[in-house]
Amino acid sequence: MFASDFEKGATMNETGGEAPANVSTTAGRIFKIIRDHGPLNGTDIVRRTGLAKSTVSAYLERLLAVGLLRDEIPSAGKRRRLKVAESAGYVVGVAMGQSHLNVALCDLEAEIIDSVGESVDLVKDPPEKILGLVIAFARELEKRAGLGPSALFGVGIGLPSPVDYSEGFPVSPPVMPGWDRFPVASFLAREFTCPVFVDNDVNVMALAERDKGAAAGVADRKGSFILVKTGTGIGAGLVIDGEIYRGAKGAAGDIGHIGIDGDSTPCRCGNTGCLEAVAGGRALAALAEAAARSGRSAFLAGELASGAAMSPAIIARGAASGDEECLRLLISSGACVGEVLAKLVNFFNPTLIVVSGGLTRLGDRFIASIRESIYRRSTPLATADLIVKESALLEKGGTMGAAILVLDEVFSHRNVSKLMRRFDDQSG
Ligand SMILES: [Zn+2]
Repeated sequence: MFASDFEKGATMNETGGEAPANVSTTAGRIFKIIRDHGPLNGTDIVRRTGLAKSTVSAYLERLLAVGLLRDEIPSAGKRRRLKVAESAGYVVGVAMGQSHLNVALCDLEAEIIDSVGESVDLVKDPPEKILGLVIAFARELEKRAGLGPSALFGVGIGLPSPVDYSEGFPVSPPVMPGWDRFPVASFLAREFTCPVFVDNDVNVMALAERDKGAAAGVADRKGSFILVKTGTGIGAGLVIDGEIYRGAKGAAGDIGHIGIDGDSTPCRCGNTGCLEAVAGGRALAALAEAAARSGRSAFLAGELASGAAMSPAIIARGAASGDEECLRLLISSGACVGEVLAKLVNFFNPTLIVVSGGLTRLGDRFIASIRESIYRRSTPLATADLIVKESALLEKGGTMGAAILVLDEVFSHRNVSKLMRRFDDQSG
């Protein structure tokens, strides 16, 4: 089986399990059910699909023969069950932040085999240089794992920017001017000769929470939830009925520049009172430094005098040690994030909000402040069963989610079925 057997297609509507049970996508449907719910036996799949037992058996045998499935090692007395052959190939997941790059080698279940990371400067460094690093890191990881490029199924990247998903490039990134419309996907596809998928980092993190993190149990992976990334920038990933909602142009969830009522803090986007400018990581660092210099916070003054850069972790330490200004800063940031999320809750009525990103280092009181603010400003019905909790994955979510982005695409119904047909042609 070769990675080149897969193509990027118009697959987003086909992964929802709602596809008609026509012959051409049946293998893909069965494979998707095993990806989502495996290990499973034939009876489980008959029950979930309503297909005839003989049909299911035939497709399972073919999926085994082509190497996409394997037998789970059965415990004594248990029936044979099948799962994804996670070692039949690999994918590369890339998480790009404004200041940090992480590249992970993942198996076909998006589990991280190995990873490397390095500090970068996306504002100053041109895309060619950063993407050159991505290539070098991926090759290094392949070498360390003893894998050849023919087993690479695809590369996924999360960028801290609005992304045109179908074109695979960033669009008007507010802080990375050199990246505007740079053809990231095609640049990397030339090097890797496999499919490359590029999405906004927050969407990618939402995929990781859906499959592996805090949202994994939400209504059998068909739930609707919001992932909010709180860091230097603030953004949200919207998952509706188990699928990422990107909007008309890929800008859905860009909540960092929604205005906070009555605030006039200037934002780098040119407006005033934007959530990011009031409550984001850079804003907090500036507020902490001001509090240190003005003497409002003895704790922060001490930290600044010892040469420490103001950070969420320092503010959290100050709050834990009883410094009132630190506590006020983190509660205020959480309240602003919650104010904007309340608007989304009223509009969208999700079952779950997962909070991720660097500001989670502010601790439980920050999450609690977000929660309080949402509850105060949302309608009772919208918050009746709403859960607000911290990400279960944090840093790992970026690379794992990028791997899942690839796997969802290359294992779309259509691609799996196409692979089956090619296999049949070869063996027939
Ligand atoms: Zn703004």
